[in-house]
Amino acid sequence: MKIIHTINELSSEISLRRNKGDKIGFVPTMGALHDGHLSLIECARDHSSCIVVSIFVNPTQFAPNEDFGSYPRMQESDAAKLKLAGVDILFLPTEDDLYPDGKDCNIKMGDAAKGLEATFRPTHFDGVVNVVSRLFNAVKPDIAIFGEKDFQQLQVIKEMTAFLQMPITIIGAPIYRDNHGLALSSRNAYLSDSEIEIARSLNKILRQVCQTRNLKAAKDELLSIGFDKIDYIEMRWNRILAAAWLGKTRLIDNITIK
Ligand code: AMP
Repeated sequence: MKIIHTINELSSEISLRRNKGDKIGFVPTMGALHDGHLSLIECARDHSSCIVVSIFVNPTQFAPNEDFGSYPRMQESDAAKLKLAGVDILFLPTEDDLYPDGKDCNIKMGDAAKGLEATFRPTHFDGVVNVVSRLFNAVKPDIAIFGEKDFQQLQVIKEMTAFLQMPITIIGAPIYRDNHGLALSSRNAYLSDSEIEIARSLNKILRQVCQTRNLKAAKDELLSIGFDKIDYIEMRWNRILAAAWLGKTRLIDNITIK
């Protein structure tokens, strides 16, 4: 696995791989890698012959009151996991390299970026689109994989790629869960043992809503079993999507309506 820190070096390496006939698959992450991230890499392997993973904790997608400073950073163990997973290139850009002329972004947001997450994190998708467009320009992948865990983000990226007419196929990968149905997330590391027990019921309640369609009852149940605040539980894209707080940790999850 090659570890690359600059866009220049990355461009040369990608050109080499492309000239050899490789199809480039890209998995952008913020690190603190878990099996959910690794499942995205498996998905990339099905669609490409050279896998690029980036790790960058992107400041522009965090609001000032959010957890940018405390977000888990564990580059060495992440690199070891990626090497074991057979990743070809690990891209570790610096802030200066990705944002050489400041952090402005003039990409028009579409309908996917309205409501849900955007209501509670109004600058979040601007930051996501800002960094992903820059990462796409740096990597120039043929395909890019995003998790359905962040289902709204996946829709926003699809809209952005179409809006910018980028020749990149965006593929959504299924949510990877633990044995109790909890969607894996780097932020689960913030949870205490008792909070993890409560967190595990989020998916169970989403599955119940699929049957009952009673969003209000689901919200009340989440609060009664120990969630501190529900940002939203809503239906869109034939899914039920939710965001809820356990102490200082914000969890999101979603499920297809069957
Ligand atoms: P992050 O490092 O949290 O920014 O996530 C990087 C990518 O991994 C995003 O496309 C996420 O949607 C995806 N991802 C995170 N957790 C999971 C999971 N449990 N299952 C599937 N994809 C995930």
